[in-house]
Amino acid sequence: MIGYTGRPMRAAHYQLLATAQRAASDGASAVAARRGRLHLTHGTVETPAFMPVGTAGTVKSLSPVDLQDAGAQMVLANTYHLWVRPGHEIIQRLGGLHRFMDWEGPILTDSGGYQVFSLKDMRKVSEQGVRFRSPLDGEWRMLTPEVAVEIQEALGVDVAMAFDECIEWPADRDRVIASTERTTRWLRRCLEARQKSDRTALFGIVQGGFHQDLRIAHAQELAGMDLDGYAIGGLSVGEPREELFTTVAYTAPHLPADKVRYLMGVGYPHDLVDGVLAGVDLFDCVLPTRSARFGSAFTSAGRITIKHGRYRDDPRPLDESCACYTCARFSRAYLRHLFTSNEILAPRLLTLHNVTFYQRLMGRLRAAVEEGPDALLRLRSLAVGWMRPLGQDGPPTDSEP
Ligand SMILES: [Zn+2]
Repeated sequence: MIGYTGRPMRAAHYQLLATAQRAASDGASAVAARRGRLHLTHGTVETPAFMPVGTAGTVKSLSPVDLQDAGAQMVLANTYHLWVRPGHEIIQRLGGLHRFMDWEGPILTDSGGYQVFSLKDMRKVSEQGVRFRSPLDGEWRMLTPEVAVEIQEALGVDVAMAFDECIEWPADRDRVIASTERTTRWLRRCLEARQKSDRTALFGIVQGGFHQDLRIAHAQELAGMDLDGYAIGGLSVGEPREELFTTVAYTAPHLPADKVRYLMGVGYPHDLVDGVLAGVDLFDCVLPTRSARFGSAFTSAGRITIKHGRYRDDPRPLDESCACYTCARFSRAYLRHLFTSNEILAPRLLTLHNVTFYQRLMGRLRAAVEEGPDALLRLRSLAVGWMRPLGQDGPPTDSEP
């Protein structure tokens, strides 16, 4: 396909709309935030954006309509899970992942690498790829750059992630160098294997561990490869929080300004603010959905553990400033009752709230980038406050009658 500029059409086009920038001073963090628009095959995403995680082709307990109501623009699904069950060929025959899960907006899939590398004792890594035994069906399979691209293109997603090597933390410098070089070789094989580059974008993943020179060199090398988008990978692997954001801050400026930047698997609300401050456009994390299933809600007054006895007769909504269906209709007392009774509606209502909370935060971040560095830093101190537990007068009372 040829675009109006005469160049081949790309499956991803990032449009930079505004920036908020300020150098670090007097202990205040530097600001290098971006407001943009990511155009993909199934629609346009206003950035910065957060993708709820739909591991098996579903954001657990939510329907696609719920996701839209919550303000989600784009979702993430897991290649590994869909490959093993039900299988990408079945999904392709049924019209692709969008049709299969009835989600009309953009979808990004990871490469499957992260799951495969985490199967520590049941995998063998070689230059070819990773041979592993799936705990889901007990079968031995081989994941390679070519297979990762084939599966993601068969699913018909908007964005496919390159297959990269994930290594442990901490890792010594030689190991990081060898692994980063392999990640680049695997990226070239991914590019070579593409059949649908006009529909499914391919994002490369910057590695380099926690060595500034290696990170920057890898970012520059990948920037020279003119990819559809760039992820900063190999983070959130057990390192101190400070180290993660320092790494993002020195890596991001070496990525092309006209391509989208994605920070994988991060994080808490204040992590998203710090990511945006460092110049990140796209995020995903299981936190809002997973913690909801365990009865934990993010609110603008602090975190709520809904099973706590203090909510037994609390008539207020989870978050008095939230307009989601859960907050519009139900009291903390009712939600607590659902959780202590193990009712199936309980995780669903909390998930709906948490996803809405995250999407509202992203909306505020987009507005704050347009407003300028002060607005962003104000939002940062608010988000730090959201991390505090709401009320600390005693332990949760899961076991009480
Ligand atoms: Zn709500």
